[in-house]
Amino acid sequence: MIARFRERFELRHDRARALKRQGTKIIGCFYGLAPKELVHAAGMVPVQLVEDRDARYEAKSGLLPFLCGMSKNLAGQIAANVLDYVDGVMVSTVCDTNRHMLDIWVHQRAFPNQWLVRAPAKDDEGAINYFTNELRRLAGELGAVSGTPVTDDGLRKSIALFNENRALLRRFYDARPTAGLSAEDAVYVFASALTSPVEEHNALMRELLASLPPGAPGSDPKLMLSALNIPMAVDVIRMAEKYGATVVTDDFTHNARYGSTAVPADGDPFRALARGYLRTVPAPGLYSFEDRAARIRDAMERAGARGLIYLIQLYCDAYALEYAILKERFDRWKLPHLRLEAEATPSSIEQLNVRVQSFVESLV
Ligand code: SF4
Repeated sequence: MIARFRERFELRHDRARALKRQGTKIIGCFYGLAPKELVHAAGMVPVQLVEDRDARYEAKSGLLPFLCGMSKNLAGQIAANVLDYVDGVMVSTVCDTNRHMLDIWVHQRAFPNQWLVRAPAKDDEGAINYFTNELRRLAGELGAVSGTPVTDDGLRKSIALFNENRALLRRFYDARPTAGLSAEDAVYVFASALTSPVEEHNALMRELLASLPPGAPGSDPKLMLSALNIPMAVDVIRMAEKYGATVVTDDFTHNARYGSTAVPADGDPFRALARGYLRTVPAPGLYSFEDRAARIRDAMERAGARGLIYLIQLYCDAYALEYAILKERFDRWKLPHLRLEAEATPSSIEQLNVRVQSFVESLV
């Protein structure tokens, strides 16, 4: 069963190209505030742009070396023509780097279409009104590309499908700490949600939840992993396991986005979508730090995790800043945590071994 999730993630480019050959347009989304429901309601498939483990991409990126690995990796994927199936890209601002990646892609004509999602950092009435109009503008432009106008009813159906996906992922995270599933396998359950049609992922999730193998909680130190880069996270999971710990739950920007808050289902669907996104997607600076810290603490309690590993990429100011603010709360709560910062390369990851080992030993 897990192999099917993993295959959907690892073969994401081939699967997207197959959809495209059948006439489906594919829209790349860069970070969590890109409203995938709108893309779906316009009859296209949204896929998250995620980093790939291949050192050649960073060499091909043409970007300055002190930019984050995520931006260099994506730029390298584009230069290597890996994303040749993408009909358009939708960028929602998280940091200066991802915002200006869009400018570079526009300049390079990297994709046939591109959109900037201007999401306010507030959720008062003025912000909701502004973002509702912004979503209507985007819907009109997406419909013009696909030839399928976004209607109120169509958008309601798309919201319901993505809400179902969020609910299934929440059930999965509730069940995971006592299910007999490895932490690495669990990563692919949510990662495949980022790159698969939502209907397909919902069907797989229902099957998985009906057949989750039971497991017995062990006595080894239990951890939560917070991360952004999926291949780096898998490396750290393996490292923690090598020193005798178990990663019982995780917190990626992406799955926190999908599995946390449902979009309201009532009233004007564009307004509901605006309310469902603003201040609910845990992007640094656009989400309450107090709430983010509390959610991590609560998720750890629910999963029985005693320690947190907070993994960030070198040169990522957005998450480094978020960590600095969260750390004040973690220290106040005496929540054991380890901040790791590395490049997504085997040699950089290798250097984390000693720190992971001593953190795990401190929890025994
Ligand atoms: S959030 Fe961090 S990793 Fe992502 S684009 Fe910005 S600097 Fe890079």
